[in-house]
Amino acid sequence: MAQCVFCKVAAWETPSQRVYEDDKFIAFLDINPVNFGHTLIIPREHYANFIETPEDVLSEMTKLAKKIAPAILEAMKAPAFNITFNSGQEAGQAVHHIHMHIIPRYADDGHKQWHGRDRYAEGEMGATAKKIKELIK
Ligand code: 5GP
Ligand code: ZN
Repeated sequence: MAQCVFCKVAAWETPSQRVYEDDKFIAFLDINPVNFGHTLIIPREHYANFIETPEDVLSEMTKLAKKIAPAILEAMKAPAFNITFNSGQEAGQAVHHIHMHIIPRYADDGHKQWHGRDRYAEGEMGATAKKIKELIK
C-alpha cells in the first residue's frame, strides 16, 4: 500500500479524474480546485519536491504542460492560466510528491495575484544578486 497521497493516486488506491496518462506521468483534476479545470501533473515515480526531482523529469512535465494547458483553456473557456510548483511546506506544499499545478484563470475571478511588497535598501540588490550568483552550482 502506498503511503503518499499522490502515490495512492498513481496506484489507483485513490480514485482520480484523469485527463492524461502515460507510462511516466499522470494529469488529473485537483479535488479542491482554485477554479474548475485546475489540473495537477505528477510523475508516477515519487520525488518529494522540485529540488529533489531530476532535470529530465521536470522538463518532461513542462513539455506535458504545453500539451495539456491549451486543452484546459479551451474546455474551461479560460483566457489565461497559472502554472505553479509549490516547493516546501512554507511555500504551501501540502503533498510532498512533486506536482505541477495548471490553474485556469479569468478576469475578476476573485483570486489575488502576488504583488511585490519589499524594497531593497541601497546596495542590497547588488549584494543579493552576487550572493545567489556565487552559489549557483
Ligand atoms: P500543494 O498545496 O501541495 O501544492 O497542492 C496539493 C493539491 O493537491 C491541493 O490543491 C489539493 O486540493 C490536491 N489534492 C490533495 N489530495 C488530493 C487527492 O486525493 N486527489 C486529488 N485529485 N487532489 C488532491
Ligand atoms: Zn508519492
